Amino acid sequence: MIRGMRRVDLAYVRLASSEIARDINRDVVLEVIRANQPVSRAELSRLSGLQPSTISLIVNQLIEERWVREGATTRLPRGRRPTMVGLNDDLVMLVADIRPKLATVAIVDLNGRFLSRAQLPVTSDPEKTIARIVESMLRMKANHAQRSFEGVGIALPGRVDSATQRLRFAPNLGWPDFDIKGTIEKGTGMAVEMDNAANACLLAETWFGRMDGVRNAVLVTISEGVGTGILSNGQIIYGDHNMAGEFGHVPLDMNGPVCGCGARGCWEVYASSRAALRFYAESKPKVPVRTIEDLLRLAGEEDAAAIAALTRQAEYVGKGLRLISATLAPEVILIAGDIVGAWARLAPIIEKAFAESALAGVRPKLVPTHEAEVARLRGAAILVLQRRSSMASTVDR
Ligand SMILES: [Zn+2]
Repeated sequence: MIRGMRRVDLAYVRLASSEIARDINRDVVLEVIRANQPVSRAELSRLSGLQPSTISLIVNQLIEERWVREGATTRLPRGRRPTMVGLNDDLVMLVADIRPKLATVAIVDLNGRFLSRAQLPVTSDPEKTIARIVESMLRMKANHAQRSFEGVGIALPGRVDSATQRLRFAPNLGWPDFDIKGTIEKGTGMAVEMDNAANACLLAETWFGRMDGVRNAVLVTISEGVGTGILSNGQIIYGDHNMAGEFGHVPLDMNGPVCGCGARGCWEVYASSRAALRFYAESKPKVPVRTIEDLLRLAGEEDAAAIAALTRQAEYVGKGLRLISATLAPEVILIAGDIVGAWARLAPIIEKAFAESALAGVRPKLVPTHEAEVARLRGAAILVLQRRSSMASTVDR
């Protein structure tokens, strides 16, 4: 077979070495354990195609790094009793999902399971809000003192500048500049990783969701605002300073209503939960409906104005998806957030508006994500795991 030629960008490539092969094998074994646990070393060798001696070395290393632990033995025919290995779920992360009005604090283990969960109000005062979150985290940690806490992960309704680690663009939260990371690190004594909620949600879908084999996907969160996380060729796209993916702030109408970002007619102004509430208020100014939950409930009760408001929002969601399919051509567009609460009613409307505006070619599949909060919290935990795994592969060698 003739090997092709590939241009390698020398500015980015690390020289190939056996160490890299070892890193890749380690990642493969960890993934095979994750997907098949509890699993014996012999089974790992069969599933991964690696030699039993290689498996043995890697499993020992993973046990040393505390990613993996030995568990029960199983009885096989002829008296052999291999020791099974699985992920070490004593290893846990403290996480928070901060939204414009509500924060959820939780403990998540390596398997994405929740050990504890609490909700707290979010106000316009970042100092008080973060103090409350830290207090809740410390209480949870004390209640699970036997676990090994690996760090803190935070999902935020905005972009976290990768250089300064400050929240840089969060028009729906409206906080003044505040050192979220530093304050939580000081309060908990643990390292903090932060990222945009849509990226966190997308990370969780790639780790725990139904994305096997999907290399091009965009996750759209439709709540107070419209956020997106982008998976392209199997990689999450961050862009310079972690600012990529603000489709919610691409204008659909240059003369439209003013957006939280200061521009006019952004997609978010028409497609967010806030937009649905505005549409409702325009048609029924004398009946105040303050939350999207109330609006969804009214629609469930067949209130015509509520249904009309959500329908209008759904049409704009569908139209705006053109921005995404035209620029990124994903196989799948995952929809998360409030709007999924009325998915059965709204999906056909979104699909129709999307079909009318889509470019030629195969249209991406629309898939609702029903447990967005769970996904954001799990994603926040993965932020910590990713840091830990990159440390393991640099420190140990
Ligand atoms: Zn905007």
